[in-house]
Amino acid sequence: MSVPLPKLIVHGGAGSSLQSKGGAPAVREALYQVLLPVYDQLSQGLPALEAVVRACRLLEDDPRFNAGTGSVLQSDGQIRMSASLMDGPRRRFSGVINVSRVQHPIDLALALQSGADRTLSDQGGAELARELGLPPYDPLTEARLQEWLQERRGESRRAMAGVVVESPGRGTIGAVALDNYGQLAAATSTGGKGFERLGRVSDSATPAGNYASPAAAVSCTGIGEDIIEECLAARIVIRVEDGADLETAFRRSLAGSQERGRDLGAIGIDARGTIGWGKTSQTLLAAYHDGDTPGDTLGMDHNWGTGVA
Ligand code: ASP
Repeated sequence: MSVPLPKLIVHGGAGSSLQSKGGAPAVREALYQVLLPVYDQLSQGLPALEAVVRACRLLEDDPRFNAGTGSVLQSDGQIRMSASLMDGPRRRFSGVINVSRVQHPIDLALALQSGADRTLSDQGGAELARELGLPPYDPLTEARLQEWLQERRGESRRAMAGVVVESPGRGTIGAVALDNYGQLAAATSTGGKGFERLGRVSDSATPAGNYASPAAAVSCTGIGEDIIEECLAARIVIRVEDGADLETAFRRSLAGSQERGRDLGAIGIDARGTIGWGKTSQTLLAAYHDGDTPGDTLGMDHNWGTGVA
């Protein structure tokens, strides 16, 4: 039976409840504003790799999310962002770690797809941005600065290491697509977990946080240290390659993470067109389009789910 293509799922982070903040409707709308136009473009033949980059750019531009504009500040008051991109058919991973002063870190990851050196850290990212002629850009927002100042004064209560959505403004972003040609791609972009020490490396530009093969593609969010120790994105994809269906791959991987007390979430799609998501955190901010109707995971209590169109 042939599956209607394409498929798309995007996320804006995971964390504790949004409900108490009244933030869910606004976050849902923000996710749909990315999901729907990019899904349209996918339907018109845009390849998956370009679709996930476009989705990331839009999410990086939304100051509500912790990536690009609106990234959180590190312990020294600076913003350093990480992003990665993986092309499923070629199993090609590229990324940047702790880059500053760019509007769309995902563009640097895209530029590195065709290079011999495919993951660059801080200075290398800055040099690449110069080579590409990207104008210097300050992603700082007043809201993030005030959060950081309050935190410094010990005035804010940070739940769950403060990673993502205790306030509606937080949340690493990511996108996974399956295009009309049956090709998968995953992209992830983050400002990090906030208040981290200098030089801390996020999962978002590693195969633990973002991974794709011809069989499946996954993007993660949550505490980067937990995601790295679970090697979550690669673990889910490899389970699919070893014969599990996407639902089983998510269920087993998330059950293990839950047992080990991890705080994380993930979204994914397999080559058969199954869309999946999972979380150990209270909330996962994800929205998907299965070719039929759009849906989202906001307010879902269970820890994983899939849908096949
Ligand atoms: N995973 C990101 C990090 O630890 C944070 C997040 O997903 O919000 O850098």
